[in-house]
Amino acid sequence: MAERYVYFFGAGQTEGSKDMKELLGGKGAGLAEMARIGVPVPPGFTITTEVCRLYLRAGTYPDGLREQVQSALERLETATRKTFGGGASPLLVSVRSGAAFSMPGMMDTILNLGLNDTTAEAMAAESGDARFAFDSYRRFVQMYADVVLGVHADQFERLLEGRKHARGVREDTELSANDLRELTAEFKALVREKTGKDFPEDPQDQLWGAIHAVFNSWQTPRARAYRRINNISDDLGTAVSVCSMVFGNMGDDSGTGVAFTRDPSTGEKRLYGEFLVNAQGEDVVAGIRDPLHIDGMAQALPGAYEEFLEAARLLEDHYRDAQDLEFTVEKGHLYLLQTRSAKRTGRAAIRMAVEMVDEGLITPEEAVLRVEPDQLDQLLHPMVDPDANVHVLTTALPASPGAASGQVVFNPDEAAERGPHEPVVLVRRETSPEDFHGMVAAQGILTGRGGMTSHAAVVARGMGKCCVAGAGELVMDEGRRRFTVGDVTVHEGDWITLDGSTGRVILGKVPTVEPEPTDDFRRLMEWADAARTLRVRTNADTPNDSAVARRFGAEGIGLCRTEHMFFEGDRIDAVREMILAEHGAARAIAVAKLLPMQRADFEGIFRAMDGLPVTIRLLDPPLHEFLPHGMAEIKDLARKLKQNPDKLRSRVEAHHEANPMLGHRGCRLGISYPDITWMQAQAIFEAAVNVQKEGVRVCPEIMIPLVSTAEELRRQREIVDHVAEEIFYQCDARVDYLVGTMIELPRAALTADRIAAHAQFFSFGTNDLTQTTFGLSRDDAGRFLPSYVEGGILPDDPFQTLDIDGVGHLVQTATRLGRGVHADLKVGVCGEHGGDPRSVEFFHNAGLNYVSCSPYRVPVARLAAAHAALKDPSRTRTSEPAPVSDRALAEQEAVAAD
Ligand code: ADP
Ligand code: MG
Ligand code: MG
Repeated sequence: MAERYVYFFGAGQTEGSKDMKELLGGKGAGLAEMARIGVPVPPGFTITTEVCRLYLRAGTYPDGLREQVQSALERLETATRKTFGGGASPLLVSVRSGAAFSMPGMMDTILNLGLNDTTAEAMAAESGDARFAFDSYRRFVQMYADVVLGVHADQFERLLEGRKHARGVREDTELSANDLRELTAEFKALVREKTGKDFPEDPQDQLWGAIHAVFNSWQTPRARAYRRINNISDDLGTAVSVCSMVFGNMGDDSGTGVAFTRDPSTGEKRLYGEFLVNAQGEDVVAGIRDPLHIDGMAQALPGAYEEFLEAARLLEDHYRDAQDLEFTVEKGHLYLLQTRSAKRTGRAAIRMAVEMVDEGLITPEEAVLRVEPDQLDQLLHPMVDPDANVHVLTTALPASPGAASGQVVFNPDEAAERGPHEPVVLVRRETSPEDFHGMVAAQGILTGRGGMTSHAAVVARGMGKCCVAGAGELVMDEGRRRFTVGDVTVHEGDWITLDGSTGRVILGKVPTVEPEPTDDFRRLMEWADAARTLRVRTNADTPNDSAVARRFGAEGIGLCRTEHMFFEGDRIDAVREMILAEHGAARAIAVAKLLPMQRADFEGIFRAMDGLPVTIRLLDPPLHEFLPHGMAEIKDLARKLKQNPDKLRSRVEAHHEANPMLGHRGCRLGISYPDITWMQAQAIFEAAVNVQKEGVRVCPEIMIPLVSTAEELRRQREIVDHVAEEIFYQCDARVDYLVGTMIELPRAALTADRIAAHAQFFSFGTNDLTQTTFGLSRDDAGRFLPSYVEGGILPDDPFQTLDIDGVGHLVQTATRLGRGVHADLKVGVCGEHGGDPRSVEFFHNAGLNYVSCSPYRVPVARLAAAHAALKDPSRTRTSEPAPVSDRALAEQEAVAAD
């Protein structure tokens, strides 16, 4: 028997089901399923995605297709008691595209196919409504010409306007049947003029032309680009659903609508949608007339409304998820035209999932899988009040979510000065590490240049601070302390508001609303925590960050960067003094000044983390970041240190490096200047002993950065262990601690077995590991990396989502080598990737113990870890896996792809 290419649905003869999405597309599978469970759908048939694949490969249709379509068409004629292309009761159909994942760029649905001069007259006679028949006809000609024949819709609109003008009317509905008949003739003449061919009169030609167009639309540049970006295979292909027409435009007992079974923005369990009386197809969406709220349908069409409620309930129970429905009422009879999983906000996703558990519709595990980790991001930051009236200056990259209002400041020093007392927004062309103090103090950051992984974006995300980046329309004039956008000039001190979730830059002060974690959120996160095996820690450098992260559920600190402490207040002078010291004795004096400051910081952090592990990374950045720039700053420092400015300058210059990222930093500093390691270790252990004496449990994990050889680690650890013993002896107390290393250089990953001989834990510094694996500095990547991703050279920005093939391979290798030496070696990740859901899934599968991410990403990582665990095939399940969870997931993906 020949292969089957066509599946019938409706009229009690349904051949497909919801499990055939890949073959029938989401739309075709939904129509089949609805028909199968007794929801009224107009009958029709679906041509499979397999045909699309064969057609695109061979350029022709497979043998047997035409016969199968013809026989389905005949079945459809029998089922509807209508005739395609003739008779007293002509059969009209819609031709609809639909792949397994819905995607933009695919062909628009064609309605009313089958009309020609003969069938239009027959329809006029049958319905007794010539206006209706010719209105449908002219719409069909326009739509078909636009979508299939490539004659732009504008030109038809112009003819329509012309006719309305000639008749002196404003609305389409005021045109008579005769006007519409003549207009249709004009439309067809236009087609002939533009294409050199007659508009196809034969419905068979119309049908095959439309089928062709659907398959070809799989290859439009827009659809291809979309698939590439979303990792959807080009080989899936689209299906074509041919569906007998029902008419919502047959009078006041007819209409069309769309509805969600639950409110997609709040999640509340109530019907949400719109309905339009006496209208067809997309009239609701097109906004031709103001639609009714769906509740209004109860008065307008009570019988159909009751039926619709029943169908909505049935579909939601059947799919066990909120549905997005499209329907039409023809002379009081209800027909469903589409069902799919409803797209929803993060807030709605949580509420729906939790309430469905309470309703007994899904299990807690399924509920966890119903919420995408990234959706939580919307809930964890303040938002621009959605009811506020706003003046948007420009929209740029939504680099770090949240909302911030403040007065414009251009200088980071000034931001640092004013920030603690009044809200300021730091506006910079771009930021660099030297702006850090200003970024910390500002409410939000706006840059004119740079992408989603620019310095400003990364640092802001790390701090959970709102940032809008790459606002190219901003013309900066720092000299005169102002910027302009179009014809608006904003001066220093003027108020602006940033919306880091949408990228909007708004003039003036706009109220923001604080997110409140709801009970639903807490319950969902409890279920997620029960499901996951990966621990989640946070990157936190201050007691305040640590406290925030704890509230978000962090189970420890995975990365505490000590250098940020060096920038605070006037500490920088002591740091500079230390770096620029002429000899060891002078350095010892400077180092001694820093000791109490660091100790106090660590005490604060240990207290905040009360009993949870705290991973402290010893000093890492290149020294030049701390040094004064330009003669003015050098002179200033020379005065403070009572030194000769010229001598000081030559010492500053001696620290110059051609490529600081690959230079004198990390443990290389600790090797050159052991006093620094010594001082930091002393600060940590003294703080630990002090806090432990207060009755707080302390678990420091000391991490040596940028190790490339085992010997570096051995020497640094020797110092740390030595200092520990000394302090413990002096204080007559002991603290349990670990010493481990960052794995952030390919050499370290490849020789991890040797390194593990001296390490009690590993933590992958995936930011640096990505930079060094690609040989690419993140700060310079912005120039070309976006085009790499758009052009498909890289699937994702590797600084956002872990490069599994390269960097991931190193992670796996190092973990295996390390655990070969210590089977129970604790292995974690710090770096942006620790908060990226797809990377988290990889880390789970790689067998890591924890990920660490910025405080605001902690809930995202917790949920992502739960997803990874629930999807892990090696997981030992307590109950039978509920098959719907995968489906729900696939549906959510399809919706996310919409
Ligand atoms: P989309 O992918 O844009 O949702 P659809 O194929 O669902 O496209 O069609 C859009 C709309 O056209 C439907 O919501 C429905 O209102 C209308 N439509 C499609 N097929 C038919 C039909 N057979 N009868 C009546 N209306 C239809
Ligand atoms: Mg639709
Ligand atoms: Mg690093």
